[in-house]
Amino acid sequence: MRILVANDDGIYAPGIIALAEAMLPFGNVTVVTPQENRSAIGHRKTMHKPLRIDPVPFPIKGIDAYATLDAPSDSVAVAMLGFIKDPIDLVVSGINRGGNMGQDLTYSGTVSAAFEAVIFRKPAIAFSLVDRSEQADYGPAAAIARQIVALGWHTHLPPLTLLNVNIPALPLDQIKGFKVVRQGLRTYNDELIARTDPNGRPYYWIGGPAPTGDTTEEGTDLWATHNGYVAITPIHLDMTSYAMMREMDLWQVEQLMPGAAREPHQ
Ligand code: MN
Repeated sequence: MRILVANDDGIYAPGIIALAEAMLPFGNVTVVTPQENRSAIGHRKTMHKPLRIDPVPFPIKGIDAYATLDAPSDSVAVAMLGFIKDPIDLVVSGINRGGNMGQDLTYSGTVSAAFEAVIFRKPAIAFSLVDRSEQADYGPAAAIARQIVALGWHTHLPPLTLLNVNIPALPLDQIKGFKVVRQGLRTYNDELIARTDPNGRPYYWIGGPAPTGDTTEEGTDLWATHNGYVAITPIHLDMTSYAMMREMDLWQVEQLMPGAAREPHQ
């Protein structure tokens, strides 16, 4: 297998090194990621400035690594568009520093790199460790990533579908098992912090405590990792709400004439 490793934490992040090393037994491993931390950059396509992609040394022997100045989705696109000559069999993104659950997916550079891969019709799995601390141990998560790739689930994924895997920060023998779960509900505890610059102009930070979330609703990613399970969520790029399409049938939207006058809805 030829495996591409992506993520958004910077090319020497411990989670990227651990994942690349865990993939080595499967064949050829190439790392292409942003040089620096680009977490929460979302899904971006850089089209209005040149992309740089430079070979860099990597701490694991036998792995080619390239660093970019752009988004992780850009680095996957560059790899897919011919920067890597040989066909890629699997894209793994991670292991992210911190979980990617609930609404995190819309911000996540980790998941966006996997989305970019499925847009190129390549199987992709995103891995995140539910621990943002500097001392986090990526060993158990790397062992689980290796196990999941060995199981070959990625060969059964339909088009535009990826696996989003969140791993609790526990020793391997304390992780209770795997759960296939849906996205839960995150709570962001963001605060707007206003400051004044030396010229008297206001500027703003989005600050505040780390996000929390509903860990009580059974069957979600937040619930599973909170209870010591590896959370596996199949994610589809089709973001259509099919339930809402059915609801909107009752609104008879398609029988309305565009532009027809109506009393304003109060
Ligand atoms: Mn990250």
